[in-house]
Amino acid sequence: MKRRWKSKRAAGAACLAVLLAGQMLLVSGCTAGMAETEDEMGTETVNAREDEQTVTSVDAEIYVERVEGITDDFICGADVSSYVAERDSGVKYYDFAGNELNEQGFFDLLAASGMNYVRVRIWNNPYDASGNSFGGGNNDLNTAVSIGQWATKAGMKVFVDFHYSDFWADPAKQQEPRAWSGLTADEKAEALETYTKESLTTLLDAGVDVGMVQVGNETNGEFCGESDWASICKLFSAGSRAIRSVSEEKGHEMQVVLHFANPETAGRYSGYAAKLDTYGVDYDVFASSYYPFWHGTTENLTSVLRQVADTYGKKVMVAETSWATTLTDGDGSANTVRKGKNDTNLAYPISVQGQALELRDVVQAVVDIGDAGIGVLYWEPAWIPTQVYEEGADNAEEILEQNQAIWEKYGSGWATSYAKEYDPEDAGKWYGGSAVDNQGLFDFTGHPLDTLRIFQYVRTGTTAKVEVMSTEVEDVTAELGAEVTLPETAVVTYTDNSSETFAVTWDAEALAEALTNGQGSYEISGTVPLDGEIYEVFCSLTIKPVNLLANADFEESDTSMWTIASDTSCVGIRKETTNTRSGSYCLHFWDDKAFSYTAEQTVTLDAGTYRAGTYLQGGDAGDDAVFQFYAVVDGETKSVDTGVSSWQNWSEAIIDEIVVEEDDTPVTIGVYVDANAGAWGAWDDFYLYHNSEVEQEIDSW
Ligand code: CA
Repeated sequence: MKRRWKSKRAAGAACLAVLLAGQMLLVSGCTAGMAETEDEMGTETVNAREDEQTVTSVDAEIYVERVEGITDDFICGADVSSYVAERDSGVKYYDFAGNELNEQGFFDLLAASGMNYVRVRIWNNPYDASGNSFGGGNNDLNTAVSIGQWATKAGMKVFVDFHYSDFWADPAKQQEPRAWSGLTADEKAEALETYTKESLTTLLDAGVDVGMVQVGNETNGEFCGESDWASICKLFSAGSRAIRSVSEEKGHEMQVVLHFANPETAGRYSGYAAKLDTYGVDYDVFASSYYPFWHGTTENLTSVLRQVADTYGKKVMVAETSWATTLTDGDGSANTVRKGKNDTNLAYPISVQGQALELRDVVQAVVDIGDAGIGVLYWEPAWIPTQVYEEGADNAEEILEQNQAIWEKYGSGWATSYAKEYDPEDAGKWYGGSAVDNQGLFDFTGHPLDTLRIFQYVRTGTTAKVEVMSTEVEDVTAELGAEVTLPETAVVTYTDNSSETFAVTWDAEALAEALTNGQGSYEISGTVPLDGEIYEVFCSLTIKPVNLLANADFEESDTSMWTIASDTSCVGIRKETTNTRSGSYCLHFWDDKAFSYTAEQTVTLDAGTYRAGTYLQGGDAGDDAVFQFYAVVDGETKSVDTGVSSWQNWSEAIIDEIVVEEDDTPVTIGVYVDANAGAWGAWDDFYLYHNSEVEQEIDSW
């Protein structure tokens, strides 16, 4: 099944190809072919909703359904920690009218767009011994003071995110600051308390309206170099004490926040909250990161946060979330969400409308918790390209080199090479630019996307037209000469994420032409009626040559055609869903001692030339392991060597010229393996084609 997302707008380009799950759909002219229908439908749907609402919807380019139950004081904001480094790098930001903004203007725009909070991370000492910045926005205390002052002046509150590290802290790394290395947990707690008090005092004295303070970032069972809960909670408590004490001393209310990630893991948050309770940690807010491509559903998010809220009387929130508007990289440094990475099985389209749907759902998920659900913050919406890099363009290399120099000098990439002094294995190797330039609420050139106003829109709803966002039709694969029936229905999804199923009328002529043409991949168009108008959908049809092997993908229950010979029980046709290339079954192998086997099938072929192939994946086979794919005709064996590299990394073995001289010749196709103890893997999707059919494939391509 493929879902085709439609997109009218995306960051950095007025019109572009929408890439998803390896397919490409060019939205021509940036307008859908169904403008009239969408108009009618949109008006109708929106009117129906307006009748139910007491709040007046606003006109917008994106469709946003109002979040029922959202309170006036619901925290809406963004983490813009990279802002100062971006500005230093020459990045410009604009308002909705296209006017260039100065620093204060930028923060005023955030406030005017519906944000009431700005979050900023703080690292203790993100510089090497020579004073070179580790990058990632150079987020020391001074940077936080600057951002905090602009945010405060714009009327927003400030959420301080202490990592208690000299650089990034997340579930994979929680390294203590160099100045605290070698300290016992008690000594660290003392240092942390003093550091927190001093830093908060500096911020408040500088006029920064700090409303929330986070003790540690994504502290999933590790914090500041400590990994037992007694020590972790000792450090949390030290941070909390510091916040309470400065709060009292300054007469300035600040909430104590703890922050975790991976709500999708069953029992994780309830387990953490129980530990915090056991060790008596005094805190107000249990905050979560929520990135939908990793962190499960919004329903689950609501459920796990509600459990913490209900059980321990805590407030809960989403401290970080984001969504991509394009799979295009804007600065030459790979993005977290890109083609081939975090881009499949998505709950929302990669588009501005998709970003709106995601953010709205996250707000709804937190509001659904009730009074305890207090807010949602977007992560780094302004971390856009220092200079726009266009892959494949004439100046691409030049721009990338310039960007790299800018990131090194101004710290506006996620890490500089200098970070190797502190984090040699990750930042020290992979330093570079922004990994989230395609997840901004600004486009690549600093102009705000419509989604910058999302926190306004969730309070009112919008009257944007409801349009077709995607269509979904099952893929069809058939063998040459077989009868082909295309799916009867298509699912059409609208920009409000509602969907309907429609009967499809397929282009019979195009289908007949594909069948005549033979092997290849085809896009057959069809139509669905929408309110009397016609909307176009597509089916991916793959016609394969006739496979002369029986049960070549192991999905059928009769496996008698396969002969497996082995000295151990290392190999068999097994249901191994995570190890298959297609379907649920494969020829699976593993043993804890060295093993060898053959698996083969004999068929009777007419005179002619044939091609055979198979796919293999696996690992831990050792350097001298043998993986052979062979064909035996008249006692003569042809074989090719293949091998395993890693899980689900399939290599195809092909024998492309198997000559059969006479009719009714038995031909054996098989594999031979001789591997070390611990080797594992699977074969799947064997094939044996008559070359005349394969040649047809080459012709048609
Ligand atoms: Ca990038």
